[in-house]
Amino acid sequence: MQEAPKIDKENINRFLCPNCGANMVFDAKLGKLACPYCAHAQEIVADGKVDERDYYEFLQRGQQSLQPMANNAMQVRCDSCGAIVNFTPPETATWCDFCGVKIVAQPKAADPLIAPEGVLPFSVPQDQAISGFNRWLSSRWFAPSALKTMASADKLSSIYIPYWTYDASTRSYYSGERGDWYYETEYYEENGEQRSREVRHTNWYSRSGQVGRFFDDVCIPATTSLPEKYIQKLEPWDLQELKSYEPAFLSGHKAQTYQIPLDEGFERFKRIAEGVIYNDVRHDIGGDEQRVHNVQTEYGDITFKHLLLPIYAGAYRFNNKVFQIVVNGRTGEVQGERPYSWMKIGCLVFVILAAILFIVMILAIIGASK
Ligand SMILES: [Zn+2]
Ligand SMILES: [Zn+2]
Repeated sequence: MQEAPKIDKENINRFLCPNCGANMVFDAKLGKLACPYCAHAQEIVADGKVDERDYYEFLQRGQQSLQPMANNAMQVRCDSCGAIVNFTPPETATWCDFCGVKIVAQPKAADPLIAPEGVLPFSVPQDQAISGFNRWLSSRWFAPSALKTMASADKLSSIYIPYWTYDASTRSYYSGERGDWYYETEYYEENGEQRSREVRHTNWYSRSGQVGRFFDDVCIPATTSLPEKYIQKLEPWDLQELKSYEPAFLSGHKAQTYQIPLDEGFERFKRIAEGVIYNDVRHDIGGDEQRVHNVQTEYGDITFKHLLLPIYAGAYRFNNKVFQIVVNGRTGEVQGERPYSWMKIGCLVFVILAAILFIVMILAIIGASK
């Protein structure tokens, strides 16, 4: 039987090592709460169900259930980019992980928010994320040499990023046209000769009908601090490994407060759903070509979850420009922005032009000597 971590009365949700009293942190490698000093480690009990919440019911009266991420959570807002980051002492926030500036604001007690239902714990340790990032960077073509040394500084933080996931069943009524191809032989004259060719035509028929689909766990990032195209590339997330939310998973890591509210996230979900439904409608219309005139969609059984997903984020400044990179805290996949060295590209272009000139000259000499 394992000894439970002692609860510090003044700082509830600080996890103190039963051996030495130090703060235990969530260790990505072990997947456990671990003491950085005496190597004591223990499982986090998170066997609760990650429930869906009813969307409209929550919008109407769910606001009372707002609460901070942990009882002693602190938060700090970056003056430069507006991101709000939560952490629990002794963790601190000294620079902004999203834009790279030094944080000067004093931390305050965290504001209540829609509590996360689930968390996907980090499984890639920080040193592995950093070496992955360095490998990624050194394999980039034309990256400035100065950057390759500068960016190896370990400003890569583990942050749980807020996500909404939505479920909905949809019924869509559409009107449009179905186009069926047919071919006719056309005769024409060319250079005084009689020729023929097959020409394609389309018969259009008006069509209407309905399609239905169930959307399950569509992930919408609730952050605007990270470049959308890069965090999208980090998908898919292994949501089957989701744990019910426990503040212990955050110990030693930061968590961002959602910036995109629940209802705005739902509008984003609808835009994704509309794209899928549009394809369903075209498939339902059939034929060789389709025209879609109108689609009316009803959304039913809408539920949502608020999740925290593990991302290593880092921002580095190069020539006064900010470059952001993200690493998937489950797979180690790296995505991000990088600068190009115009000097290096210029040199390569020069070498190629010189080589072409050289070949042309050789060919000219060979030609002249014949
Ligand atoms: Zn210890
Ligand atoms: Zn910032």
